[in-house]
Amino acid sequence: MKTVDTDLKEVKLYIDGKYMASSSNSVFNVKNPASQQDIAHIHEAAYEDVDQACRAARRAFEEGPWRTMSVAERCDKIRRMAEIILERKDELARLEATDVGKPYPVALEAEIPRAANNLKFFADFVEKQGGEVYPMEENYLNYTRYEPVGVASIITPWNLPFMLTTWKLGPCLASGNTAVIKPPEITPLTVSLLGEIAKEAGIPDGVVNIIHGFGPDSAGEYMTTHPEVDLISFTGETATGKAIMKNGADSLKKVSFELGGKAANIIFEDANLDKAIPESIRAAFLNSGQVCLAGSRILVQRSILEDFLDRFKKAASELNVGDPQDPNTNMGPLVSEEHYRKVTGYLDIAEEEKATLIYGGKRPILDEKIKDGYYLEPTIYLTEDTSSRISHEEIFGPFVTIIPFDTEEDALEIANSTDYGLNGVIWTENLERAHRVSHHVRAGTIWVNCWFVRDLRAPFGGFKKSGVGREGGKHSLEFFTEPKNICIALK
Ligand code: NAD
Repeated sequence: MKTVDTDLKEVKLYIDGKYMASSSNSVFNVKNPASQQDIAHIHEAAYEDVDQACRAARRAFEEGPWRTMSVAERCDKIRRMAEIILERKDELARLEATDVGKPYPVALEAEIPRAANNLKFFADFVEKQGGEVYPMEENYLNYTRYEPVGVASIITPWNLPFMLTTWKLGPCLASGNTAVIKPPEITPLTVSLLGEIAKEAGIPDGVVNIIHGFGPDSAGEYMTTHPEVDLISFTGETATGKAIMKNGADSLKKVSFELGGKAANIIFEDANLDKAIPESIRAAFLNSGQVCLAGSRILVQRSILEDFLDRFKKAASELNVGDPQDPNTNMGPLVSEEHYRKVTGYLDIAEEEKATLIYGGKRPILDEKIKDGYYLEPTIYLTEDTSSRISHEEIFGPFVTIIPFDTEEDALEIANSTDYGLNGVIWTENLERAHRVSHHVRAGTIWVNCWFVRDLRAPFGGFKKSGVGREGGKHSLEFFTEPKNICIALK
């Protein structure tokens, strides 16, 4: 247990409408990954705190008024949360850039506005939903209501903490559930502010609770086994999803999992490389490659391999790697020392597997201010070994593996050869091929001649070990509601 360092920002638990210290007084520190400086100390929830949060959420669910107020009133409060997020956009983006190490403009222009939109979108969406009436013989009225499930545990990873938490919180709250949120322990700062944002928006006490801590034998495990929790919405690693499923099995909790990925980004010889190259760079190196949807395996048709390599390498060399707060930075550091070690460990694995280094693989030369940060150059390897670890495992860093292929059948075989199936990307000017290959890549989302273009109504989630269930539009509501059929004899 550490003692509280009063020079640092102090982040408390938010339970039943109040920020409070951990009952054990245990705290842990979080660092700025660009400088390795400690930036905040976080109160770590003991079991008693998690218990208190889950009970507060249960009380708020059972006693109302959240569940029983009109949908319009509930959704107005959620839309107000979205407005407050936009009013505080700059502060939230600065904090996210400092905590995660992502470029400030990405947080400001993409992630924080998307977080606000996650809440607004689901408030608007839920307000438009109706139930169903089944015409029967006239003596009966038979209809279906969609009711909230109860108390949801919301657990999110460190790469897009604010955006992903609101993506779950929006449909959870709009449907009338209450929530216990655990932000990622490495990057909890922005999510911790959701308590005061919810309060200002008029969300009743107990509806949103935020606890801090780790996974096994800590807050994460407590909130996924707690008897008052009905459903678990989790985004993170596949291995963690398996542990949560086992832990939640005894009390048969409903689960929705968004897990890891190792997307194939397939470049056919007829691709428009003027578009494919910049988008493949973005897909490989956005957020330092720490994106579940990253195009981290690039499958290139052999006839264009040389041209592609030359142009891709040149584009990677033009990325500005630097201080996340600098508006000219394209790529910041990796999120933590532990993650830096994991990602750079793959440099040794790539050498052992006799892959060819095309670009990067070193620490970049950095300004004095960020010289201790967890930085790695954009790194590109080429391999013919389709069973290698660098072609199969999720590295989750600025590390891309290029694999040549000869025919469409070969491309499909390689694309489908991993345990993951979150998304795939296809570059071709041939419409028939675009459809054919899209149908055969086993993944939840396929982008053709684009990457990371989202409509929040569309289903989002993974095949195979990339997830269980779907999020987005009505798919999120299927998870956060229970349909109830009512049949009334009228005479
Ligand atoms: P992680 O699984 O290590 O941690 C995610 C969260 O789970 C953290 O809050 C952590 O404290 C908690 N946790 C860990 N063990 C737990 C346990 N036993 N019980 C309950 N909670 C537990 O993941 P990470 O390293 O933070 O994030 C990176 C991973 O997230 C990558 O695999 C990435 O692909 C995935 N991800 C997926 C999506 C998607 O939409 N599919 C989006 C973003 C990230």
